Parts: sequence; structure tokens; C-alpha cells
Amino acid sequence: MNQTAKKDKDPNAPETIIVPADTDQVHCDGGVGPLGHPRVWYSFDGAQSVECGYCDRLFVKESEA
Ligand SMILES: [Zn+2]
Repeated sequence: MNQTAKKDKDPNAPETIIVPADTDQVHCDGGVGPLGHPRVWYSFDGAQSVECGYCDRLFVKESEA
């Protein structure tokens, strides 16, 4: 067992959330822990990605290429 090889997520690293390409709105509440925040909704407004202003999570539309 090599415990140093364990890959914990860096709690300070913003996550990238892939959402279906036809998504118009996403909500984010930061999940549990220090990044949690009130649930907010974001609209893509035609963009490919939107970033949460609270926790810096990036929501990116899945590409259908
Ligand atoms: Zn958030």
C-alpha cells in the first residue's frame, strides 16, 4: 500500500462540470464543505461555458462533435 499515491482532490481547485449540450441553465450550490454557498442559477445565454461566481466551478457544455 502506497498511501502517497492516493489522489485526493485539491479542495481549493475549482471543478469543471460537464453538462449536456442542450442545457440552458445550471445551478450551483458549491456542494458540501467550505465551498458550499446558497443555490444560484446561471444561464448559458448562448455561451459554451459559465463560471460560478461563488466557488469558481466551471460549467461546460458537452460538445457533440
Ligand atoms: Zn458554485
